Amino acid sequence: MKVIRHYVGNDLRNFNYVVGCDRTGQAIVIDPFDHRAVLQIAVEMGWQIKLILNTHEHYDHIEGNPFVQQVTGAEIWAHRGIASVIPNVAKGLVANEIIELGDIRLKVFFTPGHTAAHVCFLLLPPTDKEAACFFSGDTLFNASAGNCRNGGNVDDLYHTFVSVIGPLADNTLLYPGHDYLLNNLNFALECDPSNLLAQRLKEQICHLQAGTVPVMTLGDERAYNPFLRLGEAKILEKMRPRFAGHSPRPSQVFARLGELRDNW
Ligand SMILES: [Zn+2]
Repeated sequence: MKVIRHYVGNDLRNFNYVVGCDRTGQAIVIDPFDHRAVLQIAVEMGWQIKLILNTHEHYDHIEGNPFVQQVTGAEIWAHRGIASVIPNVAKGLVANEIIELGDIRLKVFFTPGHTAAHVCFLLLPPTDKEAACFFSGDTLFNASAGNCRNGGNVDDLYHTFVSVIGPLADNTLLYPGHDYLLNNLNFALECDPSNLLAQRLKEQICHLQAGTVPVMTLGDERAYNPFLRLGEAKILEKMRPRFAGHSPRPSQVFARLGELRDNW
């Protein structure tokens, strides 16, 4: 099994993903935007694209669907709540189902918040010794969280962070829908200027070309992503003045961080 991450190079800095099975040559595309690149990857790898998965309905996550489908005949699957919104969806997904193709096994997580019917996909490793890969769409970004401005709900997003992202193992590799790492690290450092990992990572990536940032783990994210550090002293210190000195609940900290990030 291989995961190919393709950086689109557009203003929105989208990542597209192709997951292929070495044994059968079958492949799954997640959130295709740059259909030419996705199709080229499949040709170069000797893979046949059998399935197109969408994390949610925003145009930058579905734009390439018809073109990839036209060339490959692949079916389009998305959460059943938006199966009638995205054109040509053949199957409406539900929480916790396992998508199997060749040796690929992807678990579907229902992750509302950025949108009402967002899903994330967890690529299950063939053995316990290997790491799982979490395709988070616009739910969890490196060093931040997705916004809730286009059909979202911040309380739902908080619940998704606690109930879905919370239990994932530290060694899980994070594959988000966009490369916002550098910008988000600046925000994370504003929340917690003394965060050493964020400082070092920023130094490491600030001269890199867009889209070439390292793949981080959830363990890394838990060390610098303010949305995963709601109860930590540094974050609370930063947020407490915004609650008139009261101790806010984690859900309130999460929502206020989202507002700060949106207006930052
Ligand atoms: Zn989106």
